[in-house]
Amino acid sequence: LNRKIALLGSTGSIGTNTLDIIRKNPDKFSIVSLACGNNLEMIRSQIREFHPAVASISSKKDRDILVTEFPETKIYSGSEGLMEVAMANGVDTVVTATSGSHSINATLEAIKEGHRICLANKETLVVAGELVNKYLSDFGSEIIPIDSEQSAIFQCISENSRKYLKKVILTASGGPFFKLDVEDFENIKIKDALNHPVWSMGEKITIDSSTLMNKALEIIEAFYLFELNEDQIDLLIHPQSIIHSMVEFVDNSVLSQMGIPDMKIPIQYSLSYPDRFESNTEKLELDKISKLEFFKADKEKFPSIKMAFEVLNEKNNSGLILNASNEVAVESFMSGEIQFTGIFHVVRNMLDSCDIIPIQSADEIFIMIEDVKRNTREFIKENRNKWSRK
Ligand code: MG
Repeated sequence: LNRKIALLGSTGSIGTNTLDIIRKNPDKFSIVSLACGNNLEMIRSQIREFHPAVASISSKKDRDILVTEFPETKIYSGSEGLMEVAMANGVDTVVTATSGSHSINATLEAIKEGHRICLANKETLVVAGELVNKYLSDFGSEIIPIDSEQSAIFQCISENSRKYLKKVILTASGGPFFKLDVEDFENIKIKDALNHPVWSMGEKITIDSSTLMNKALEIIEAFYLFELNEDQIDLLIHPQSIIHSMVEFVDNSVLSQMGIPDMKIPIQYSLSYPDRFESNTEKLELDKISKLEFFKADKEKFPSIKMAFEVLNEKNNSGLILNASNEVAVESFMSGEIQFTGIFHVVRNMLDSCDIIPIQSADEIFIMIEDVKRNTREFIKENRNKWSRK
């Protein structure tokens, strides 16, 4: 095994965990190229350690700084940079660990190259699922999921058992509020929403976990990744996050994948698949865990789940609308402009008011996203008093 890796999103939580695995397995993996958002300090030390041939940072100004410091590395910026990193010479594996939708086009191009995509970025399938699946079959490339739920499902289905699959059961930790009365949702503060009980992750995804929008995105992601029907996806709240998801077959046999909640396990598997090798993560010791609990998810309390199933019905650009409007809504919540429940109202409104149209090509994606985001900002501006904090 000698994978040559392009890492998109190198300074985030998945990115740094990926580098940790690569660092400990230099005989199996090497870094060809790296891209990050705005963390100049961190990518500087990553370039020093991993000597990538190509690197990229979001801002042009930071790029110019890095150019003078690292004459041996080709340094780029912006979306062009993401593309250069994904398409760098010699790469055979692209880890997409960016947050948001910036890396979708670069990922689509990498699929056309036949590279393995180790997919952590949910937006890729939520926004462009139909296009991704078309490219995967046209160009014979593969996606090995990193997201813990999708990794669990992926591990539970074999080539032969695929045809006997009845449904997938996604598990959700439930975030910090699944037991809170819906009447109290209006008083949720930013710091409460940022306080995730199990997983330690970036800010955007932590807020998404508290609204269950993260699970909504995963429902859509699973739909495209495993080419399911709407009625083949179920959801269970499982606060301990030990069972990472399950699959049910036609004979009612259920398989699950378990492990401690540590993203290093699914990251390593996406790189090593179909092989496995030792990991220095903590072992699962079930005798030390007193109980595994399961609850039904309340779709009235968390309209995000309801909206996800609407997207499965509508397809086309509906996932793009859900995702782009949610991104803006989360930003507005984080800046104190709207309250917690405002996030649901904003996304609901955009799903109802935007036209549902097909996405014909990768080039349209960016423009469509910007359109939805602009409309969402306007909608928030007009209605801000309705959902402003008290
Ligand atoms: Mg997940």
